[in-house]
Amino acid sequence: MLFQPEIERMPLAQLRELQNTRLKRQVEYVYHRVPFYKAKFDALGIHPSTFQGLTDLTRLGFTRKTDFRDNYPFGLFAVPQPEVARLHCSSGTTGKATVVGYTAQDLNIFAEVVARSLAAAGCRPGMKLQNAYGYGLFTGGLGIHYGAEKLGLTVIPVSGGGTDRQLQLLQDFRPEIICATPSYAQVLAEEIQRRGIAPEALNLQYAALGAEPWTETIRQQVESGLRVQATNIYGLSEIMGPGVSQEDVNERGTGSYVWEDHFLPEIVDKDTGEPVAEGELGVLVFTTLTKQAMPILRYWTNDITNLYYGESRSRTHVKMGPIRGRADDMLIIRGVNFFPTQVEDILRGLDHVSPYYQVVASRRGSLDEVEVSVEISEELMRGLELAAVTEAAVAQHECLRTLRGTLAKKIKDNIGLSMHVQLLGFGQLPRSEGGKLSRVRDLRDLNQAHRA
Ligand code: ADP
Repeated sequence: MLFQPEIERMPLAQLRELQNTRLKRQVEYVYHRVPFYKAKFDALGIHPSTFQGLTDLTRLGFTRKTDFRDNYPFGLFAVPQPEVARLHCSSGTTGKATVVGYTAQDLNIFAEVVARSLAAAGCRPGMKLQNAYGYGLFTGGLGIHYGAEKLGLTVIPVSGGGTDRQLQLLQDFRPEIICATPSYAQVLAEEIQRRGIAPEALNLQYAALGAEPWTETIRQQVESGLRVQATNIYGLSEIMGPGVSQEDVNERGTGSYVWEDHFLPEIVDKDTGEPVAEGELGVLVFTTLTKQAMPILRYWTNDITNLYYGESRSRTHVKMGPIRGRADDMLIIRGVNFFPTQVEDILRGLDHVSPYYQVVASRRGSLDEVEVSVEISEELMRGLELAAVTEAAVAQHECLRTLRGTLAKKIKDNIGLSMHVQLLGFGQLPRSEGGKLSRVRDLRDLNQAHRA
């Protein structure tokens, strides 16, 4: 379903015109209201009176996370505090959280893009949505909440965590939709199976998952475990929150629509900052086109993905591929670049492993090493009558040694790196407690510091 068909199907030429007008207006607006941008534009020789719009976009330089931190808490705001209707913070996944603000109009647009996203995810007015995104300073909970209300859904504002309660509500209130981080949706899928909850006890049809990278491996687990069609919802607090882009439920696996009338996306080379060709991977950069409280121009998200128009589309807006990871999640090991999500991708279709994994990079001497820990499936543990998977168990069971060898070979063939594979028992790796879950540990600086 399309929530705003006239916008979602706006002819591209008209969309460009709209973006152009809005961009010029936004540049003028921040020049007069945000000293940070005035100083920046003066230094770059940019003046709103001569700024040409889209063709001049790359002249604007980038806004980075450090700019938020340097202007903490309210230095980037473009309106006086009484006009700020709400404050949020980023999750602080990569350091000190950044503060963001919204006017009443910003909140209205936020709700509108989330409503558009939920409609694309399969939701229709009158359905019930269990919102397992965290409520609070994190943009996820309240962002989804107001968008769901705008679409005409009945919201169950349970927030993240509290798995017993989540499962109880799923059975008692019988919502059709759940929103959660993919890692927490995994936990719910796993618990439903573990507790032997009958599929008929639930009424779920759709899941909109986001706030962290995930691949088809998790989609498969969540779709079969919760009996849903699961789509990807992306966003970030610096630009708005969830609902910056969304996958259509009937076009799963082909990318997410970026709501281009409000958020202007670009992909640039992570080293040079130069725009790349359509479809190529690089850093995602966003410019807000309609924000009032905190407009941000060319924000360097640090997220790695690509943008393309391409086939199989029901809307005109550009699509973005799944986020491969943050640029800082990319590990460079012995000259080879890879994202931990590539390991996740490999687990799909492999028998006897669970979709849980952890990647640890370390340094021994001057050599970088990577160890991948993977859990074997519950069935295999039962079949081998194992309570835990130890080195002795691996030595004793040929099938475990074969499994380890197969995994190591797949990794080597697909990623081009030899990694040490450690097999663990089902349930041994950390699970999400309701929010984002990190599956990477880079101990190399730590190893270095120890030796120094
Ligand atoms: P933080 O950057 O501190 O985690 P946010 O809560 O604002 O703060 O999270 C935004 C970030 O979360 C994005 O920049 C991106 O890295 C990640 N993210 C959000 N949605 C998705 C998604 N669907 N897929 C992959 N990553 C996502």
